[in-house]
Amino acid sequence: MPISTVFSQKERTLSFEFFPPKTDTGQVLLDNTISQLAHLGADFVSVTYGAGGSTREKTRDIVLSIQKKYGLKAMAHLTCVNASQAEIAELLDDYAEQGIANILALRGDPPAGEERFTPTDGGYAYASELLTAIKADQRFTTVCAAYPDGHPEAKSVEADWDQLIHKFNCGASAAITQCIFEVGPWKRMCEYVGASLDNPRIIPGILPVTDYHAVERFCNRCGAAVPEVMRTRLAHLADDPVAVRKEGMAFTIEMCAELLQAGAPGLHIYSLNKTTATAELVTALRLLGHLE
Ligand SMILES: Cc1cc2nc3c(=O)[nH]c(=O)nc-3n(C[C@H](O)[C@H](O)[C@H](O)COP(=O)(O)OP(=O)(O)OC[C@H]3O[C@@H](n4cnc5c(N)ncnc54)[C@H](O)[C@@H]3O)c2cc1C
Repeated sequence: MPISTVFSQKERTLSFEFFPPKTDTGQVLLDNTISQLAHLGADFVSVTYGAGGSTREKTRDIVLSIQKKYGLKAMAHLTCVNASQAEIAELLDDYAEQGIANILALRGDPPAGEERFTPTDGGYAYASELLTAIKADQRFTTVCAAYPDGHPEAKSVEADWDQLIHKFNCGASAAITQCIFEVGPWKRMCEYVGASLDNPRIIPGILPVTDYHAVERFCNRCGAAVPEVMRTRLAHLADDPVAVRKEGMAFTIEMCAELLQAGAPGLHIYSLNKTTATAELVTALRLLGHLE
């Protein structure tokens, strides 16, 4: 079930992201979430790959179970961390045999405490190398990651966007952004990449905002400040969980509406394995006529 067919048929896609849980309780929560969100008619869903390659089997098993149980198109995230090229080739054989057709190809983060990424002996150094290998393999649709504010290790925002262009040229059918909290950087990135490529499909990654402190922590990790527009609207409510959730969701809905009006080729929602905020966001956007 390659998602390239959806990309060729639909101008806009709706997709959800899940992560492999660490506990049995987390697995039950994830099963419930998937079964409830499946009714929202996502075009595809994706399952992350734990830091350091720590969830290799779980990612694969969750993708297979989503495909089998719900008939949804599913995409496995895959990183270059802790894997040689030969090991990745083996994993691709297994994916193809099992019927996994879609891969979000990533480099992965350096291990905790290390600033730079060091490739495994005989491994890939960049996502673009992994994309090139998967493209040569011809059995998969690939997607890559994009950073509207630039990746933290890049020399400049533009240098990183040049690498995004390169990733499209190495075979990515689409890119999904890190979660964004303002429209401007995504628009500028699309203009920059669009000057070199014909209609690049850059899908905004959306984290429904229910907790301002969580957004602050996320931005800190990326070495970025919380965007001014969001700080002004939410910072003073940060310690009032009910008020911040209400205003945060209103903020998210407005931002998604603006993105779709600006021509975003869909939305990829970081569900955090929870149902309510994702369902609320999709329902509101449909009621307002911004999503089919
Ligand atoms: C949508 C999305 C999903 C993600 N899912 C996961 C996941 O499941 N598991 C996980 O561990 N991580 C995940 N990540 C995080 C990701 O692994 C990290 O952000 C990682 O640090 C970079 O991965 P990348 O694929 O963007 O790397 P790359 O595209 O390889 O870029 C890494 C850095 O190198 C630079 N660069 C790239 N190519 C070159 C080159 N040829 N020469 C010089 N510099 C270059 C880039 O500008 C960038 O600074 C995800 C990120 C996003 C946006």
